[in-house]
Amino acid sequence: MRSLQKATHQQTRLINQQLVLRSLYDQSAVSRAEVARLTGLTRTTVSDVVDGLLEAGIVEELGPGQSTGGKAPILLRVPDDARHLVGIEVGDSLLTGAIVNLRGEVRRRVEVPLDGRDGEMALARLDELIGALVEPAAAPILGIGIGTPGLIDTTTGTVRWAVNLDWRDLPLGARLSEQWGLPVHVANDSHAAALGEHTFGGHPPGESMVVIKVGRGIGAGIVIGGQLYSGEGSGAGEIGHTAIADNYRPCRCGSVGCLETLASTRAVVQRARELAPHAPESSLHASAGPERIDLDELVRAVADGDDLAREVLLDSARHLGRTIGGLIGTLSIHHVVLVGEMTRFGEPWLTAVRREAHRSALAMLADATSIEIGRLGGDLVVLGAAALLMTRELGLALSR
Ligand SMILES: [Zn+2]
Repeated sequence: MRSLQKATHQQTRLINQQLVLRSLYDQSAVSRAEVARLTGLTRTTVSDVVDGLLEAGIVEELGPGQSTGGKAPILLRVPDDARHLVGIEVGDSLLTGAIVNLRGEVRRRVEVPLDGRDGEMALARLDELIGALVEPAAAPILGIGIGTPGLIDTTTGTVRWAVNLDWRDLPLGARLSEQWGLPVHVANDSHAAALGEHTFGGHPPGESMVVIKVGRGIGAGIVIGGQLYSGEGSGAGEIGHTAIADNYRPCRCGSVGCLETLASTRAVVQRARELAPHAPESSLHASAGPERIDLDELVRAVADGDDLAREVLLDSARHLGRTIGGLIGTLSIHHVVLVGEMTRFGEPWLTAVRREAHRSALAMLADATSIEIGRLGGDLVVLGAAALLMTRELGLALSR
């Protein structure tokens, strides 16, 4: 009974601490009395919690504010660099990490190439990256947030399956946490991208959205009412490996006809390589052998109005659009944001995706839905992973 009371007491303390910290974080400068008013906690409780936060260096005193008659109250704030967050994106060929402060400002960035390495070799590269980020620490490190492709159990930080990296049932979070003595939180890269877009894309806090990351792989992150929806088993948004065609193209997941085999960067490059030898009028035909066609060249050919390149692109966009139409019907969410390497194709791709999504969803739902390309660019997953860490460790929604 006693230990139960003790546990409840600790829990109350933690909840109070999060409430106080959140009101301090959301205001630029605020007094203890104002925090008490904002949180509904007693002044004694607030003072007690603030003392702990001051001692931990997460909060600082700014000096006296405006007096409203009596003694001027001391104002408090959360310094932007009171803690640093490590955000990491495990990409297809590159590990990108950044030191991010409590306002989502990137203080330092480090990249380590994967060079096609997987399994333990990829883990060694990840260690190298973390070492380069945390060792010259300019502020206490709060922890590490990681966005990685694959099916992730976010509660334990276990990578259940990441095809490209050859990671299966890898306790990534536990392993890194033990090694670095820091809390580690792991999420699917598309989920992290969704958090990043929701946090920094200028969206209202409670907005719902689907963020679809279309690169070599395809995955979606679903934010409902401001909260990331991971689904049972954390597999929500795994749309890349839904078989949607009978083309029998083998997928790296072992299945055939997956969306990834039709709408990913890998799929369009492969399709262009297959068709270019039979299309003498295409600029891709003239390039030094179809095996040399890469994403850069395809992007250039589409921009130049090359018929073959456009046909390949629009075909892939139709498959993606149809899947999005299905999501619109399932979720009735009004914002769909597209991110990832495929967005380099820009307007012609986006227009075709929109058209097909619209055609394949109920008109009334489709009319209410915007489909846009995200504006945040490269650091989306890194920032999203940092936002996840911040929420899990401090109970704060990262904001600028
Ligand atoms: Zn697949």
